[in-house]
Amino acid sequence: MQTIRTVEELKNWVREEKKSGQTIGLVPTMGFLHEGHLSLVEKAKQENDKVVMSIFVNPAQFGPNEDFDRYPRDMERDQQLAASAGTDVIFAPSVAEMYPRESQISISAGAQAEVLCGAKRPGHFDGVLKVVTKLFHLTEPNRAYFGQKDAQQLAIIESLVADYNFPLEIRRGETVREADGLAKSSRNVYLSEAERREAPHLHAALQLGKQLVLGGENPLQEMSEYLKERISGKIDYIELHDYPTLSKEITDEAILALAVQFEKARLIDNVIIKLKGN
Ligand code: AMP
Repeated sequence: MQTIRTVEELKNWVREEKKSGQTIGLVPTMGFLHEGHLSLVEKAKQENDKVVMSIFVNPAQFGPNEDFDRYPRDMERDQQLAASAGTDVIFAPSVAEMYPRESQISISAGAQAEVLCGAKRPGHFDGVLKVVTKLFHLTEPNRAYFGQKDAQQLAIIESLVADYNFPLEIRRGETVREADGLAKSSRNVYLSEAERREAPHLHAALQLGKQLVLGGENPLQEMSEYLKERISGKIDYIELHDYPTLSKEITDEAILALAVQFEKARLIDNVIIKLKGN
């Protein structure tokens, strides 16, 4: 496995691979890898000749009071984990390499970003679209892999690709969880011991809510009460929408999603609920 730090070197590598007819799978990440990231690499490995993982903590997707500076980073450990999962290339540019000048053109997410995290983190998904667009152009992947853990991000990136005819396929990866149900996340390291014990209740609340939705009930009040009795963190939102449109009108699939702010970590999780063909 090689680690590439510059745009020029990445483009040269991509050119050579394309010349010899190799297909490329891209797994964009912010690093501090866990099994969720590695499951995406494994899927990419099965479906492509070569796998590129980007590791870039993207300042454009963090708000001024968010955790960009203290987002966890450990490149050496990431290199070992990525290599063991079968990654061929890590692309880990500096901020200056990725954004050498102020962008003159902005890309903005539409109505899908007006709910859930998009409503709470203004500009976040515009920053995601900015980095993902660049990564797509630099890597020219046949397929790019995103986790259902960040379901709103996934839905918005699917719209980007569909609306602007990006010549690649978006592939979805299931959420990988700890044995107690907590969704794996780089930010879990910032939970205190007590918070870590409470955190599996997020998944439990979603499972409870899913049953209520399938029974034709509105789950939001009950989920909120369930969580308030069990966690010290502050509920940022609990919402139910259509998926992947994220509109109010629920048709075949719904997303039930929540965000909780603990002292040093904001956690998100969701469940997708099939309402037809169940
Ligand atoms: P991040 O490094 O948090 O930006 O995540 C990089 C990619 O990994 C995104 O597509 C995430 O949705 C995905 N991901 C993060 N956590 C998980 C998880 N627990 N299971 C599956 N995919 C995940």
